[in-house]
Amino acid sequence: MGETVLVVGGAGYIGSHCARMLAERGHTPVVFDNLSTGWKDAVRFGPFEHGDIRDATAVARALRAHQPKLVLHFAARSLVGESMQRPLDYYDNNVTGSVVLLEGCVRHGVENFVLSSTAAVYGVPERMPIGLDAPLAPINPYGASKMMVERAIEDACRASGAMGATCFRYFNAAGAHPEGDLGERHEPETHLIPNVLKAAVNGTPMSLFGDDYDTPDGTCVRDYVHVQDLVEAHLAVLAHPPRAGETRRYNLGTGEGLSVKQVILACEAETGGKIPVDIKPRRPGDPPSLVAGDTEKARAELGWTPRRSDVGTIVGDAWRWHRR
Ligand code: UDP
Repeated sequence: MGETVLVVGGAGYIGSHCARMLAERGHTPVVFDNLSTGWKDAVRFGPFEHGDIRDATAVARALRAHQPKLVLHFAARSLVGESMQRPLDYYDNNVTGSVVLLEGCVRHGVENFVLSSTAAVYGVPERMPIGLDAPLAPINPYGASKMMVERAIEDACRASGAMGATCFRYFNAAGAHPEGDLGERHEPETHLIPNVLKAAVNGTPMSLFGDDYDTPDGTCVRDYVHVQDLVEAHLAVLAHPPRAGETRRYNLGTGEGLSVKQVILACEAETGGKIPVDIKPRRPGDPPSLVAGDTEKARAELGWTPRRSDVGTIVGDAWRWHRR
């Protein structure tokens, strides 16, 4: 039977793909979003509650009206560079907002809470791939804010004894819905693949931030995972919920790293033309390499395997969306 699921931040990139998959599988995704960075036209798979996670009254209203047992929390500011310039916005929205949301969830009997966390909690890890036991040492306010929220969730679940949680540490979310009518759209756009594809469309060079890293080709290495695969992990929590009071953590990545140059090459192969590139200095806050370790945990406990996360499929799906 279908469940009512509160998708907090469901107008954003990953949240909107998640709402769509929930609806496709017979569930009712209720989107709660303040539309600060999300898009109203991406809310089309279920009811919409316009509100801000820092507003306890709005949160309580949505929880009372829809009585979800499962809450998926995607609402966050998520740009590393912006977080370096405006750290307090990140602590306010991501930490304060999540605390208000958690408080509402505990009070309204939510049983299952899922956080979009990030590989940025690891900072510049000593070992690659990054195991779940790697020290948490974020080097930017974005990563620090998510580290704090993970801890708040763990403490809240333990104290409540009734709510369980799952924290998914995403590596680099990428790609778009295969139908090409839902995808990544940020204003301004700071992410690699959209910027490479924009350069392919309008011929103005994309900026490549740093080619002097200590990596095989000098450019940063990331573990790109398709948005549809990330979303599948969230749906898997319905079948494999945590125990009451428990908090689980998973790395969501493929375990394979790609350099910025390799991504550009894949985009050239997909678009069929040379993409103009300007080499720029390193971007503050960027670790040289981030590749997921312990990926078998999600496989073993949630039955999760990335199916669309090869670079060809990611770039192909993103390109279909960008051309529209
Ligand atoms: N990057 C780049 N040019 C861009 C956007 C990103 O060279 O226009 C690089 C960035 O420095 C990083 C990698 O691409 O090494 C991935 O950046 P993105 O912002 O997509 O994700 P992040 O890893 O910061 O979450």
